[in-house]
Order: sequence, then structure tokens, then C-alpha cells
Amino acid sequence: MFKRRTTGSVVCPGCGSLVGVTDDRCYTCGRVNPGLWGFAPVLRKLGADMGFVPVVIGGSTLLYLASLLLSGGDVNLVGGFSILSPSSDALFLLGASGAFPVFIVGAWWTILSATWLHGGLLHIVFNMMWVRDLGPTSAEIVGPARTVIIYTVSGMCGFLLSSAAGRYLTVEIPFFHGARFTVGASASVFGLLGALVHYGRKSGSSLIRGEATRYAIILFVMGIFFPGVDNFAHAGGFAGGYATSWFFNPLTRERGDHSLVAVLCLVATALAVVASVITGLSIYR
Ligand SMILES: [Zn+2]
Repeated sequence: MFKRRTTGSVVCPGCGSLVGVTDDRCYTCGRVNPGLWGFAPVLRKLGADMGFVPVVIGGSTLLYLASLLLSGGDVNLVGGFSILSPSSDALFLLGASGAFPVFIVGAWWTILSATWLHGGLLHIVFNMMWVRDLGPTSAEIVGPARTVIIYTVSGMCGFLLSSAAGRYLTVEIPFFHGARFTVGASASVFGLLGALVHYGRKSGSSLIRGEATRYAIILFVMGIFFPGVDNFAHAGGFAGGYATSWFFNPLTRERGDHSLVAVLCLVATALAVVASVITGLSIYR
């Protein structure tokens, strides 16, 4: 599947027209090295099936289990909303975001990693249910690679906003609290909703716009009534998803370049977890 192609023609990742795999430049759009050293077909295959839902659920579950193991005896076993919560030390080590990691420690990359971490069993179960619900819809409508980009960028926007609020906001806003520590996929879930609302407006589909808006309102109101929910991250995630969708006009076809950026998003996220572990170990030692 990941074999490099050395002869014949491939699809240009920039414009979608056929080019020779060894061509220096695409005749249609002028892109340099359109065959990507023979890896353009691999990228195209990845783009057709980014496996968004299994990647997100698998990655989040693995990191959740790792956070429980790292907590040792500190796992919360008492029932209720915080059952099976990992310790904050374990979450910090794996890349939790918030005012403390971002602005005090300087671990700015945690705005990437925190999306993949969760603070308890119900937290991860609820978020993954939303990912399973919205992921395939988003992949079908805006494309699988662009869904990965929206998921990543909106998580970053949400955590940047709540970390900055936690550090610099001095006025009280009801139901909005900046976060010292924050984790969870919900900023990205709000990002998927924001992108779907944008798509609905842009395409004129009142069905999609109405449905996505309704979901966003329900989730947002739930966040206001549950204690400890990071509403700044939700708002930032929604805005980030909307803006990302606006940036690449979802009515156009997804291109190979989007797959390339999506792969970079996932690699950067994995590196953010690694950087957090290295930073955390050097602090605890
Ligand atoms: Zn081209």
C-alpha cells in the first residue's frame, strides 16, 4: 500500500490533473514536483480514507489508559462524574494544556496534545460518542483530510483561548473561567460543529446548518450547567472550526495538499506529546 510509484502518471496534489510521476512541474497549476518523489499515490490513498474516527478514538483511548497507568495509586475510584480520573501530574506529563503549562512552563505545544487527553471515564466516553457521531458526517461533507485539519486547528484555538483567559483575564464573566489545567476533545468537537454550521451557510443547506447549530447550542448549554466545564475552550473551538472551514471553502473538492497538511497535523500532535513527556520528566526529576 505504501509503495512508491516510479513510472506512469499520478494526480497532481495541487490541482487534481494528471501529471507524469517524474515531471518537474505540473503543466496545469505550475506546482513544483507534483509526483512528490513518487509518493503522490500513497497520499491520495490516505486522503480517501484518513480513518479519522478510528485514529481519534484509538489515540485518545491509548493516551487515557497511559494516563491511568502513570497515575499509579492516584486514580480516583470514587463514583460519580469523576470516576477513573487520572492524576493531574499524569495529565501534565502527557501534555495537558492551560495557563500553567502554556504560560508558566512555556509548553505552548500542549494546545495540540490536550485534545487527545481526558480527565475521566465519562469525559472520554461522551467525547468519543460525539466524535463517532460527527466524524463520518464531516468527512463526507468537507472531506476526511480537512476533517483532521479542522479537528486539530479548532482544538488549538480552544485551548489557546482558555489558557490565555486563565492567565490574563481579570474580569469575571459568568460561566466562563480560564483554565489552569485543561484537557479533552470537546473543543475539537465544537470545531467540527462550527465547520458544519459554516458549510450549511455557504451551501445554503438549512438542514445541515440547523442541525449543527442545534447540537452546538445543546452541548453549550450542557457545559454551562455542568460544573468544571471549560466553556472558553468550547467557544474557541467553535470559532476555530468555523474559521478553518471558511479558509478552505468547503464547496471545493478536497485536494492532495489537504492530505499532506492533515498528516502534518497528526505528526505535530504526536511530537507535542513527546515534547510534553520530555519537559515533564525534566521538571519532576
Ligand atoms: Zn497541478
